[in-house]
Amino acid sequence: MTQIYRGRFAPSPTGPLHFGSLVAAVASWLDARANNGEWLVRIEDIDPPRVFPDSARSILTSLEQHGLVWDGSVEYQSNHYAYYSDALKELTELGRTYPCSCSRADLAEMGGSYDGRCQNAPPAESEEHAIRFIVDEAACWQDLIQGPAQFDKAAIQGDFIVLRRDDLFSYQLAVAIDDWQQGITHVIRGYDLFDSTARQIMLLQALGKNVPQYAHFAVATDAEDAKLSKQSKAPAVEDELATANIISALEYLGQEIPHSAPKRSAAELMDMASRNWRLDKVPKKQSIRVC
Ligand code: GLU
Repeated sequence: MTQIYRGRFAPSPTGPLHFGSLVAAVASWLDARANNGEWLVRIEDIDPPRVFPDSARSILTSLEQHGLVWDGSVEYQSNHYAYYSDALKELTELGRTYPCSCSRADLAEMGGSYDGRCQNAPPAESEEHAIRFIVDEAACWQDLIQGPAQFDKAAIQGDFIVLRRDDLFSYQLAVAIDDWQQGITHVIRGYDLFDSTARQIMLLQALGKNVPQYAHFAVATDAEDAKLSKQSKAPAVEDELATANIISALEYLGQEIPHSAPKRSAAELMDMASRNWRLDKVPKKQSIRVC
């Protein structure tokens, strides 16, 4: 039996939808629809201090206004702590974790790549600590846009954190577990997460779970070559300009723009674009400057 395609869009609710995240939503939606698949939305509110009030609602409204209809109900990472906790327990039972009390300053002194010192000299129980995952094998995948990819322990800067010092689960653990738990088969996202993919594959492999297929498109940057993000003060997409925004996203993704595009509603245009979608036309660049 062939597995049904299931894609997803997983925004962090740290601000309104900006052009960079619109591209991620459009690309993942089109690839799912072109493959008769499902498209899920997951709000990544794993890091409460970074959550911006009301931004989940504003992101969902923008998606609707751009014709990006999702399947099923929207999931929130803040409801998934039990899954992350079970996964962490399993990794620990497999002997793949250790406590680490090193500070940011210690890490900077190591040159940014963790040297594994707490594995050999564990901190005292009472000392504040994070939990690191022991990397032992390289992650290799055939990226659907970038081609063959391989990262070993050195390339991802050593054993990485799965539970933070402040007791929050790490982004890497949460995303890997959610993608598996939700049966995601395809992850289409920006190149800024390329090395995160290696970490997520390593976690899934350690737990014996299915690994999705991945495709990484160029990350949209501003005039200073900084990734468009709330931190770089990327402007919110204007919902009233949905059709024009989608045309820009399609151009960015190397897709053909139908002549009638400016006259279409966002939903009509997305539907047309799904019929013409060509993943092989998405530029194989790592970043593209958009403003
Ligand atoms: N939540 C991440 C972000 O908004 C994206 C995560 C992902 O696609 O895996 O940057």
